[in-house]
Amino acid sequence: MKPPPFSYAAPATVREATELLDRAGGRARVLAGGQSLIPMLRHRLLAPEALIDLRRIEGLRDICIDDARRLRLGAMVTHHALERWASDHGQDLLVDAAAHIGHRSVRTLGTVIGSLTHADPAAEWAAVALVLDGACQVAGPDGEREVGVEELFTGLHSTSLAGSEIITSLTLSLPPSRTGAAFSEVAPRPGDPAVAGAAAAVSLDGPRVESARVALIGLAATPCRAPSVEAALSGSEASVGIEAAAQAVENDIAPIGDIHGSEEYRRRVAPVVVARALRSALARAEGGRP
Ligand SMILES: Cc1cc2nc3c(=O)[nH]c(=O)nc-3n(C[C@H](O)[C@H](O)[C@H](O)COP(=O)(O)OP(=O)(O)OC[C@H]3O[C@@H](n4cnc5c(N)ncnc54)[C@H](O)[C@@H]3O)c2cc1C
Repeated sequence: MKPPPFSYAAPATVREATELLDRAGGRARVLAGGQSLIPMLRHRLLAPEALIDLRRIEGLRDICIDDARRLRLGAMVTHHALERWASDHGQDLLVDAAAHIGHRSVRTLGTVIGSLTHADPAAEWAAVALVLDGACQVAGPDGEREVGVEELFTGLHSTSLAGSEIITSLTLSLPPSRTGAAFSEVAPRPGDPAVAGAAAAVSLDGPRVESARVALIGLAATPCRAPSVEAALSGSEASVGIEAAAQAVENDIAPIGDIHGSEEYRRRVAPVVVARALRSALARAEGGRP
C-alpha cells in the first residue's frame, strides 16, 4: 500500500526541527532511517501530516567518548556504524546485539536511536542500553533534558517523549575492567524479531560476582531489567550461581503470546537466554572469549 499524503521537511538544525514539530502540534513525525516508520505508513498504521527528516543536521552521525568517559552516539548513527565501531574497539556486547538486527540493508539505514524511539519490546538495542545504563539527551521547544532509558519505554511502541521532542544522542557506560557483557536471543530465523533475548553485564571481585545487570526483550510489554536475576547473582560464586540466578527470571517477566511465540514458550525460553548471556558475560569478565 502507498503511505497517506504528508509534507516533508529536512531542516538543517535541531532547533529548526523541534520548532517544526512543535508547530505541527503532535501531527508530525521525526524521520531517521525510515526502517520502521515507512512500513508503518505503508500499512496505514500511522498518518502523520508531516515528516521531519534528521538527515541534514550536522553532527548526528558522530560516535565519540565524552568527557564522562561514556560512549555517545548521535541520532543518525546506524546499526551498521555502531557495529563497525564496536568491532574496532572490542565492545563484544554491542557486536553481539548488532548481528541480530534484521538484515544488512536494515542495519545500513536504520538507526540505534530510531530503534529505541520505535519502542519495540523485542528491540536488541533496548536491552543493551538498559544494561549499559543508557541515557537519552532530548531536545524540545523548551530546551534540553536527559531521560534515562529505564524511563523511556511506557508501553508497546510508546515512549515518555513529547511529540515535539527529538532524541539527539544516547550515552552508554561501557563495561569497565573485570566486567564482561554479552547478548543472547532466540528468534525463528536469523533477522526475525527476537522471541526472547537477554543482555547481561557481570562484574567480578575475585571468584565472586560483585554486581550484575541483566535486561530482557520480548518477555514483557516493554524491554525491562531483571532485578530478581541480578539480586540472585550478586555476591554468589560466579561459576555456580548462574543456573539458579537464570531461573529467577520467572519473577521478572510478564510475557504475551503472539505469532512469533506463545506465552508458555517465552516462559520456557527466558531462563535459557538469560543463562547463555550470563555465561558469555562471565567468560569475558574472566578474560576468555566464548
Ligand atoms: C525487515 C526488517 C527487519 C527488522 N529487524 C529488526 C530486528 O531484528 N531488531 C530490531 O531492533 N529492529 C529491527 N527492525 C527495525 C529497524 O531496526 C529500524 O531501523 C528501527 O526500529 C528504527 O530505526 P530508524 O532509524 O529506521 O527509525 P524510523 O523508522 O525513521 O523511525 C522510527 C520511529 O522513531 C521515531 N524517531 C526516530 N528517530 C528519532 C529521534 N532521534 N527522536 C525522536 N523520535 C525518533 C520516528 O518518528 C518513528 O516513530 C527491522 C526492520 C525491518 C524493515
